[in-house]
Amino acid sequence: MVPRAARSALQRSLDTLIGQGGRHRALNAQLEFAALPRAAMLDEQRTRLRALIRHAATTVPYWRDAFADAKLDPNDFREVDDLAQLPILTKEIIRAEGDRLLSERVNRRALIERRTGGSTAEPLVFYVTRAEYEQQIATSLRGFALAGVRPGEPLGKIWGYNREQRLGNLIAPLTGRLFFDAYQTTPERMDRWVDHMQRIKPVCIYGYASALHIVARHISDRRATLPSVRVVASTAEKLFDGQRREIEAGFGAKVVDMYGCHEVPRLASECLEGSMHMALDAAVMEFVDDDTPGPSRRVLLTSLQSYAMPLIRYDVGDRARAISGTCTCGIELPLMAMDVGKIHHVFALPSGQRVHTSAFFKPLYTLDCLTTFQIQHRALDHIVVVAVPRPDRGAEASDRLAEVLRAFGSTFGPSVRFEAELVDTIPKTARGKQPIVTSQVSEDTSWATSETSEATT
Ligand SMILES: [Zn+2]
Repeated sequence: MVPRAARSALQRSLDTLIGQGGRHRALNAQLEFAALPRAAMLDEQRTRLRALIRHAATTVPYWRDAFADAKLDPNDFREVDDLAQLPILTKEIIRAEGDRLLSERVNRRALIERRTGGSTAEPLVFYVTRAEYEQQIATSLRGFALAGVRPGEPLGKIWGYNREQRLGNLIAPLTGRLFFDAYQTTPERMDRWVDHMQRIKPVCIYGYASALHIVARHISDRRATLPSVRVVASTAEKLFDGQRREIEAGFGAKVVDMYGCHEVPRLASECLEGSMHMALDAAVMEFVDDDTPGPSRRVLLTSLQSYAMPLIRYDVGDRARAISGTCTCGIELPLMAMDVGKIHHVFALPSGQRVHTSAFFKPLYTLDCLTTFQIQHRALDHIVVVAVPRPDRGAEASDRLAEVLRAFGSTFGPSVRFEAELVDTIPKTARGKQPIVTSQVSEDTSWATSETSEATT
């Protein structure tokens, strides 16, 4: 195996060669930021926010109008709290305003187009410059650093590639990077993945929560061990407690959760103490009370890295809350917690009742006879649990699912028909994810989980 320092230098050289050297320079600056005392971080964040606001109010037609309508002078902007004077930027506004959200100062031909996924909603299009994209990737890389994964250490990535990554895995002894296609979690494939991991000895595995969970159960079933893995990083989907426990058991490693969205790939990431630290230099996050019961608040984010298409008070569709105090790890980036993830994970039932889907999937996580499952809301009065049983446990899965469905029936009344279907595989989305819930009921409901762009160290 190539030593870590040499591999790190090789990765930098290769990235520089293909125009991606910016992420390494940005990473150094962001690591320095994360080492600052909190007061200095907040000062710097305020300075960056004021610069972004002035830029948006003077060079972006939509924001110029918004400031004029609200009779606001961008030069009066002093504090993060001043954001509350501005309107909330919704996905509908982004669709309707289009180019009016772009800065007149940027060369439009040089912009990188990004699209959000979505199974029912039309995709959302937004733009970044190459330099902004490199900054975003650097923030993702810093998330790994906060979890103790150093640049150049071997990594495995489980992602929606939609094809086997033969070449990439062939040169893994040199690059230290393994790639697994989240689309193809068959037992045979996963056996090969475990072989690869045992040979290349990655210190970190990262990928979608759902895919990590499937692989972890497979590893447990095979009683395989992966002593090299120290950290499993879960990204791009809400990570539930039951999943976290099983992933830790399967991989025999600490799980860290990373929060981001397609628009701003890394907003927060967990350290090894299990605290989720906000990337204060990447975004301002507001937690807004919208009269929904419970401790979590609606997240509005203002990206401090987006100048081509400023995202200010953007309603990303997540719920979370700020946590006071500091973490024992020594990093003073402020803390937050995700409680339920996507706001849209709510089913409307015929009674008019709206039920958070965790009511359905929490009991299903306790069924260790299942490899994986998906809850499909096929009609207002029809909910189907599609499940893949573990090898040779089909009969047990069928019995235990029937018990769970009987319990659903007595909780939610006879107006909803609950059914179970045992299958061999559950189809993945275009990006290789497997949403825990899907719905064909509401047109205006997006069931997609956040899609993010990721880089490895
Ligand atoms: Zn910490």
